[in-house]
Amino acid sequence: MLIELKSITKIYKMGVERVHALDGVDINVDEGEYVAIMGSSGSGKSTLMNMLGCLDRPTSGSYLLAGQNTSRMGAAAQSRVRNERIGFVFQSFELMPRTPAWKNVALPMMYSRHGWAGMRRKAMAALDRVGLRDRASHKPNQLSGGQKQRVAIARALINEPSILLADEPTGNLDSKTSHEILALFDELHAQGHTVLMVTHEADVAAHARRVVRMRDGKVASDLPVEEDEVAELIPARSGALQPAGGTPGDMGGDA
Ligand code: ADP
Ligand code: MG
Repeated sequence: MLIELKSITKIYKMGVERVHALDGVDINVDEGEYVAIMGSSGSGKSTLMNMLGCLDRPTSGSYLLAGQNTSRMGAAAQSRVRNERIGFVFQSFELMPRTPAWKNVALPMMYSRHGWAGMRRKAMAALDRVGLRDRASHKPNQLSGGQKQRVAIARALINEPSILLADEPTGNLDSKTSHEILALFDELHAQGHTVLMVTHEADVAAHARRVVRMRDGKVASDLPVEEDEVAELIPARSGALQPAGGTPGDMGGDA
């Protein structure tokens, strides 16, 4: 099991008030899964992602990542685990504005032993994976929203993490660009990455294989995508459109 959350709670103290952002969450995720996390605003999705990404610690409960109990680790060990095992993608991209794309991608390698030449080479390879090698020297303000998110995905991939955490990665993108970004996540999942993605949109969640719905800090449901409400929106999966062994001629004039 890659991820084991056991009885996780997170309580924020706001003056005299206590907010139970997470209230007894149990979730297990196997290597290679693609999980959508849904739920209304304030239901605890981002808190859950921060917990999964070792950006925050639970108030109680345990989080085992590849068998290691991260909730008992010191800050340094936690940040090493985060750096090696987890790639983050955010709704607002979170790129350094005055820094060329390839340097943004290279940033998580700053703690590694790679020199600048090695970092640049790896960053270029990561940009290649997201189809942006020719934009390596562009700064974020010279890129479209979809291109910015591709840069952020390349950055998330740079240390070859086992887990990709994405918090509403298409939330700031138009629908055509969202489709392109989701196709990229589909591809990464097909390559074996474990993907956990927060989304409000049923058609986005339908790309996943499992849907976890949060309500008031608790898991309200946790179902294979086919059994969740989003099932009717499951997209035709790549490769499914063409019969095995089909020739380009089979495609007719539809393209
Ligand atoms: P979601 O991402 O599902 O919208 P969040 O995880 O951001 O929900 O928030 C869950 C609950 O915890 C909300 O009631 C929110 O107001 C509260 N919360 C989140 N972060 C903090 C914080 N840093 N301090 C206090 N309360 C917080
Ligand atoms: Mg949120």
